Amino acid sequence: MKSDSEGRPYVDVFLLSHPDQDHCRGLQKHFHLAPLSEYKKPESEDAEEDRDGDETEPKIVIREMWSSPMVFRRASKLHTLCDDAKAWNTEARRRVKHFRDNESAEDGDRILVLGEDENGKTDDLEDILVKVGGLITGTNGKSEATLSTLLLAPNPVGDEEDEELRAKNQSSVIMQFSIACGGVPDACLFLTGGDAEVEIWERIWAAHKQNPSGLKYDLMLTPHHCSWHSLSHDSWSDLGEDVKVSKDARKALGQAREGAFVIASSKVISDEDSDPPCARAAREYRAIVNVKEVKGEFLNTASHPAVGKVAPMVFDITVGGPMLRKSKVSAASSGSGSAIGRQPLMHG
Ligand SMILES: [Zn+2]
Repeated sequence: MKSDSEGRPYVDVFLLSHPDQDHCRGLQKHFHLAPLSEYKKPESEDAEEDRDGDETEPKIVIREMWSSPMVFRRASKLHTLCDDAKAWNTEARRRVKHFRDNESAEDGDRILVLGEDENGKTDDLEDILVKVGGLITGTNGKSEATLSTLLLAPNPVGDEEDEELRAKNQSSVIMQFSIACGGVPDACLFLTGGDAEVEIWERIWAAHKQNPSGLKYDLMLTPHHCSWHSLSHDSWSDLGEDVKVSKDARKALGQAREGAFVIASSKVISDEDSDPPCARAAREYRAIVNVKEVKGEFLNTASHPAVGKVAPMVFDITVGGPMLRKSKVSAASSGSGSAIGRQPLMHG
């Protein structure tokens, strides 16, 4: 991880798609969540009194937070927050207040709010508010030619929607990142949708079916850890092979380009009727990439490069798209082999 001139490790951007614990666990332990002026080095006496007691590693500065408008919401029956989510919320509110007070922000105080909130709570945030359909060019307040990011969801919530659908609608940020390489502006399109479920993907398809360019991908993270409920309204454990795939959700999640990778960030996918990850959903994603126009790969983080020997899955962006980096762990028994060392494919 890069460090700044003061020796503080940092990330340019931290995107939290939604505040579930499996997406932000460890936030307080590893990240600095306060003004930069309050940063403490691990060797300082003050830091030893820190409540975590684990002060061997310096905390990571988040130069810019990318947050859903959940920062404006109160907890409800369907919207309870774990401690790390509350800490995110508090820091996000601090940064929004900083923007309201100063109308600008420096590294460590920046935030972008992704999607409008109900009841006009985001109306005065124009410069830090990204509306659905909006494009973010660059990161951390700096324009960059190598990255542009399209916001696809969450949509503003309508008054007529019931509480459950409202909760689902607010559940995840969905984005398409366009990463340039060697003069190719869309060398890698990366689609990620947090834990969004079938209703959301159906709505997204309805909005994009005339021009699905915003849903195309070379790399996609399967929503909700390869859950069946991102692809179907039916219960896999109740109906088994009688379940029906939602045609519209599958179209929204099926815009794979040639050589695309679909990644399930999940436990090992087995034939048992667990969900997520669901073996039936994995089958559907394999079917999406196993057509001759795509010839892509479906991979699972828990079996990369092999079950019980997992290592980070790293992609290098080339002019021909993402390339899976060969893992340092022996890949002899990985079963994910054919992507490794493969020639890049050119996009037309
Ligand atoms: Zn999750």
